Amino acid sequence: MAIALQRALEKKVLIGGEWVESESGDRFEVRSPGDGSLIGTVPRCTGGDVKRAIAAAIEAQKVLARMSVKRRAELLWRAHEIAERRAEDDAVVLCREVGKTIREARDEIRTYSNPHFIEAAEGLKRFRGLINPSTQEDSLDKRLLITHEPIGVVGVISPWNWPADIPNIAVSHGLAAGNSVILKPASTTPFSAIAIAEIYQEAGFPAGSVSVLTGPGPTVGAELARNPGTNAISFTGETKTGESITAIAGIKRLLLEMGGNGPLVVMDDANLEAAVEAAIIGCFYLAGQVCTASERILLHDAIHDEFVDRLVARTKQLRVGDPLDEQTDMGPLNNRANADKVQAHLDDARARGGTFLLGGGSDGLYFEPTIVDGVTSDFLMAREETFGPVAPIMRFGSLDEAIELANETPYGLQGAAFTSSLRTAFLLGEGIRCGTVLINETNNYWDQLAPFGGMKKSGLGRELSDWILAELTEVKQISIDISKVKQ
Ligand code: NAD
Repeated sequence: MAIALQRALEKKVLIGGEWVESESGDRFEVRSPGDGSLIGTVPRCTGGDVKRAIAAAIEAQKVLARMSVKRRAELLWRAHEIAERRAEDDAVVLCREVGKTIREARDEIRTYSNPHFIEAAEGLKRFRGLINPSTQEDSLDKRLLITHEPIGVVGVISPWNWPADIPNIAVSHGLAAGNSVILKPASTTPFSAIAIAEIYQEAGFPAGSVSVLTGPGPTVGAELARNPGTNAISFTGETKTGESITAIAGIKRLLLEMGGNGPLVVMDDANLEAAVEAAIIGCFYLAGQVCTASERILLHDAIHDEFVDRLVARTKQLRVGDPLDEQTDMGPLNNRANADKVQAHLDDARARGGTFLLGGGSDGLYFEPTIVDGVTSDFLMAREETFGPVAPIMRFGSLDEAIELANETPYGLQGAAFTSSLRTAFLLGEGIRCGTVLINETNNYWDQLAPFGGMKKSGLGRELSDWILAELTEVKQISIDISKVKQ
């Protein structure tokens, strides 16, 4: 069934509850990576626009902080209803601007982004604090109230690969916690973020509590990070961008979700059929453009040949093509800069003598699913995040060697391993330095109510559910000596 496309969108930005143009008056075009067609135009915001949004957000936050928990939860539930009602239209726009397949786009909206409204509404009710008696022998009359206060204004700087789900984690939980939020999406995918702002506005959040500003990262994103009016930055993107934000942000809460180079370890006692399926999802879901992707496949010598034969056969079944076609398994890469990086990694692998078992070619932004054998630690794809549809195969002979290889990159987001031994599962789980280690599961898996985040250069802090509520609040202790109050 063909999907009917809307005419080109012309959206404004949301500042202080009003949809407005940038003070610059400039706009920029957004084109589909699938076929180059115009999706629409959005304002090119400036640092001045950021300052206006911050001023509105500071006022709105005072209103939000006084709003009852029940009312905030009701608004989030209403936002969920609105988001579900418009999910199919939003999925089509998301599919077109990212280049992910329509099935992946629906998955992002319905399975990942929309549940955040509810998780935030319900999490908020649990996240209320504690009253404890003092633990000190000489202070038994003291009561310690431990509360979570809103942190203030939260800047949310988000990437293009999950343009609805990722920002909505911080926006929903940020609002739930009583903060106002300013969202700055990636420039190739602004419409999914604008859709999120429309949803919150229609739900009835106070004017200024959610703003959305489109425009260049080094201008709009950097001003959000640098401006003392923002109290926290929730950034998701490349490690080098996260490092530049850290350098300018000054003293404020930083929640950083950055790049990965996830290992998928397959031991000699693994269920190979399951491990191959895990590699297919890990390497080729969203054409490999996922922070949690299987960026390195580490195979025990004993199962290397069988695994590789199975992986090649299974990968040949993947259909690459128009992301709007319901039958497509893999669409194009999102943008030229990312395609150039993937190409550089493929060229480097060729120059170093890697064996291309499948793929290696490309046509514009469409890259073939590629399997490269004989990869060693000096290859670019072993050291850095490739962010493309590539399965680099590396080998090991022992458990210790597998753990050493898994840990040899500066990243530590999600590691995965397949084994049928519980002892090996524990040793891998404890030995791999990643925020999450998944045993007998693909790297591209996460639970919406479990902590998510990276170690080393992959991140700082944890998101999802109660963990992001903790990141976006200040913990306060109020100590009261009840022996001194009037009886
Ligand atoms: P990016 O770092 O290029 O951009 C991310 C955001 O930062 C965009 O909104 C961009 O406009 C903005 N930005 C760019 N320069 C900036 C600057 N100087 N100051 C402030 N903001 C700036 O990343 P991307 O290419 O959009 O996304 C891909 C990257 O994101 C990959 O490395 C991927 O691993 C990572 N990612 C991580 C996670 C995670 O949860 N760990 C999730 C998704 C993506």
